[in-house]
Amino acid sequence: MRHLLSGEQVLADWLKRRGYPAYRNRQLATWIFRKRATCFDEMSNLPAVLREELAEQFRLWTSEVVCQQRASDGTEKLLLQWLDGGRIECVLLRDGIRRSICISTQVGCAMGCVFCASGLDGVDRNLTTGEIVEQMLRLQHLLPERERLSHLVVMGMGEPLANLDNLMPALEFANRKSGLGISSRRITISTVGIPRAIRRLAARPSHFHLAVSLHAPDDALRTQLVPVNRNIGLEDLLAAADQYFDVSGRRLTFEYVLLAGVNDRDSHAHGLVGMLKNRPALLNVIPYNPVAGLTFQTPSAAAIKRFRAILETAGLNVHFRRRKGDRIDAACGQLRRSTTPSPPRS
Ligand code: SAH
Repeated sequence: MRHLLSGEQVLADWLKRRGYPAYRNRQLATWIFRKRATCFDEMSNLPAVLREELAEQFRLWTSEVVCQQRASDGTEKLLLQWLDGGRIECVLLRDGIRRSICISTQVGCAMGCVFCASGLDGVDRNLTTGEIVEQMLRLQHLLPERERLSHLVVMGMGEPLANLDNLMPALEFANRKSGLGISSRRITISTVGIPRAIRRLAARPSHFHLAVSLHAPDDALRTQLVPVNRNIGLEDLLAAADQYFDVSGRRLTFEYVLLAGVNDRDSHAHGLVGMLKNRPALLNVIPYNPVAGLTFQTPSAAAIKRFRAILETAGLNVHFRRRKGDRIDAACGQLRRSTTPSPPRS
């Protein structure tokens, strides 16, 4: 059985082959994305035979919610298990009127960033388009009907640019008016920074917001923290990032995990200034979120303030990310294939 959401064309072609008019496809989309239907039976304006055929041939859900956790700040995290037993996590964040979701693209991750929980056991496989869209729907189901998803970040488990072919159709479902209707400006893909894939992304017609995980101002330190940098190098990465900006007109975001005693010295801040001051970019600094089993430390408030002051005095456009969801291990870098979820920290 195929996943119903494996691509817009899959369902459209299937309906056409059976002689159904195109509006049936739109009705289905309305049921799934707007009315949040959970089964074909609910789709009362579709002919009964069509509902039966759909139920025979397609699955709407292929995951089981293994664990659902909610933090006092409103953040909710789901641990989903797919048909083959693979597990991923995804997150809903509430911030004022914002309703953001953070989704995963792979079971595990192959990048091996030394401070991140997602890659601790390597990668098993890419998620399919249907599995990526299903996370969006599962998270949307956590909201009351009057609330809609406003932002989507591809910052969960996995390296999105290593799974572009499955990710892009999923993001189109998210973006399309007949889908979730989230504006492309509010959809962010976060990448470890694979220049070849960034160039591929730049060449596509729809441009989403791109966030590049930088984490160090020089190649020696970046390669220590982000091992794939050994074969990439900052020069090529920044050239690809600049090209993405030239083509898309979208200001780039660079992410920087701040690790005490590792990349939080004055010299690192000055290095960042040199690298970014002539670029139309936002630097998003994420103080390290603790990962069980790793020994990195979050910098003290004073160290963070000092680092920030250097960047701001130099006129960089910076944002220091407030921690959300860390009590349930749902913050950046904390998502994993946990079998036994850790109890909420207080
Ligand atoms: N593979 C993508 C998405 C991963 S997670 C990428 O590398 O960008 C999104 C962000 O969280 C990345 O910038 C990642 O480096 C960061 N991150 C990973 N582990 C973290 C941790 N323990 N604390 C804070 N941020 C972390």
